[in-house]
Amino acid sequence: MKFNSVLENVTTYEAGKPIELVVREYGVNSEDVIKLASNENPYGTSPMVTQKIQELAKNMFIYPDDSMYELKEALANKFDVNDKNIVIGSGSDQILEFCVHSKCNNDSKILMSKTTFAMYEIYGKQTGATILKTPDDEHNLEQFSTMYKEHGADVIFLCLPNNPLGECLDKEDVYNFLSEVHEDTLVVVDGAYQEYATFKDEKKAIDAKDLITKFPNCIYLGTFSKAYALGGMRVGYGIAQEDIIKTLYKLRAPFNITTLSLAAAIEALKDEKFVQDSIAKNFEEMKRYEDYAKVKGFDYIDSYTNFITIKFEDLYSSKAVAQELLQRGVIVRDLTGYGVNAIRITIGSNEQNTKVFKVLDEVLEKLK
Ligand SMILES: *Cc1c(COP(=O)(O)O)cnc(C)c1O
Repeated sequence: MKFNSVLENVTTYEAGKPIELVVREYGVNSEDVIKLASNENPYGTSPMVTQKIQELAKNMFIYPDDSMYELKEALANKFDVNDKNIVIGSGSDQILEFCVHSKCNNDSKILMSKTTFAMYEIYGKQTGATILKTPDDEHNLEQFSTMYKEHGADVIFLCLPNNPLGECLDKEDVYNFLSEVHEDTLVVVDGAYQEYATFKDEKKAIDAKDLITKFPNCIYLGTFSKAYALGGMRVGYGIAQEDIIKTLYKLRAPFNITTLSLAAAIEALKDEKFVQDSIAKNFEEMKRYEDYAKVKGFDYIDSYTNFITIKFEDLYSSKAVAQELLQRGVIVRDLTGYGVNAIRITIGSNEQNTKVFKVLDEVLEKLK
């Protein structure tokens, strides 16, 4: 059968491996599997959210409030914007998709960093757009600037902080770059891990309202999947000027998140203490990974997120390390597919991390 020819260039996104797969293929007990491959919050969901979902389970037969009034109000309050500046998506992934489809066709150009969130390229290629990547692995604004001047772009992606590497640009540098960008270029600031970056270093903090006020061609994306611990509920949001939001709405299917997801997100916003505690513990535990890497002589990227990327240079193959860990019930992300000999490990709970170090010791000894 003939399909839309642009899809010939599109690769399928490979998600972090699920616990079920490790149980099936390697016979590890499901309680013993440690999944640190998708940057989920290891402290589970706020008990307030769990309770709310239990109360509302009986409402499953009702379509959600398609205006998403209550969630938009809560977000509008949090970010000090108008509800007309907000769009809700099935994960911020869906809003990334809206952004690309709102701007691009097969004449378009999309500019991004070489090693960044894989979905930018996938959504881009779905439209037939040309993907331009800056040469360095980590975000480099001089390179962005040079390539933008040379080629222009319809959409620019900035992942702040960046997944899968963990680095984060300073706000001041980002603003300097944005001031060079034409008002007709849509700049997507993906803030999936902004809560972590803001906690660690004020210089990285991007305020959504300030961003879209100073640069009306920008959209800020946030998600409930990471710090807010709702990966399974699929809720994300975009904050932008009204003309952008109105256009994205044209791409939205009705009821694009569920009744329970809406309720979960609203409730999660009421428990900021849970979020801040999770973030504080994240960075305490991250130190243990940094120390571990130092002791073993591995380089790591200074991370502003809930994961750490450890590089193996020519010491080990990251693919082999990830595979050996998997067979022992520890799921991490191998970055070979991104052209980097490194693994990305989500920072787990204290107990999980202790076990990871033990298993990692074993694996490194075996592969020596
Ligand atoms: C996790 C993630 C997202 C979005 O995740 P959703 O679950 O779809 O909200 C977006 N961007 C980056 C960089 C991410 O890591």
